[in-house]
Amino acid sequence: MIVLNYHELVEASPSNTWCLTHDAFDEHLALCRDSLVSPQRFLEHCTDPKSSRTGAVVLTFDDGFLSDYTLVYARYVKTGRIPGFMSFIPVNFVGAPGRMSWEMIGELSRGGVAIGSHGMAHVDLTSVSDVELGRELTVSKSMLEDRLGQQVTLFAFPYGRFSRRVWDAALTAGYTHLFTIQLGYHRGFEAFLYSRLCLTNNMDAEYLRRHLLDPDGMRGFAWRTSTKLGLYRQLMRWRYR
Ligand SMILES: [Zn+2]
Repeated sequence: MIVLNYHELVEASPSNTWCLTHDAFDEHLALCRDSLVSPQRFLEHCTDPKSSRTGAVVLTFDDGFLSDYTLVYARYVKTGRIPGFMSFIPVNFVGAPGRMSWEMIGELSRGGVAIGSHGMAHVDLTSVSDVELGRELTVSKSMLEDRLGQQVTLFAFPYGRFSRRVWDAALTAGYTHLFTIQLGYHRGFEAFLYSRLCLTNNMDAEYLRRHLLDPDGMRGFAWRTSTKLGLYRQLMRWRYR
């Protein structure tokens, strides 16, 4: 399966690279609408080896932007145009200008959107102390769980930055699915890591079309060579040690 990662959607004039117009998002949907699966279906099948290289697509949105509620949920989920999505929340930003409130996040959760943690303050977790790392992971998890009344086991690394120390701490905190920003199908080099293509407004629909046809096609020489030699996992473990 293929995991796509978005941030904010706007009507017009994106303010940064990670912000897309809903027209651009519509173009993306036209390419993958028939392949979209709900987060629940993704989570049921993501460990099944048979599902690993199918073209099924799941959508994720990071950072808890208001547009998760006003556009993605209202315009696409409620109208049946997409079968839900995952929303990763940096807990300290809840209720800030341009971000969702707890009430909105609760409504998304009841409406079939899978809510995950994106930490507290959206910091690069590879650069913080062990104490701070533990706080980012466990306090965000318990705050989300208290508000939603259900377990939160999905985590997306802020900026896609992670290391072995970070993923060990996330697993210890009780997360089971850790989402990165890497090319390729959803299975990462460890069973609990899930690769996502992060869509920016520098990427046109043609780029996405090629990615959907062959998510591994745009990976580099090191991936191709080490995969051929059966050494990719070892290489990555060394890189992220
Ligand atoms: Zn983020």
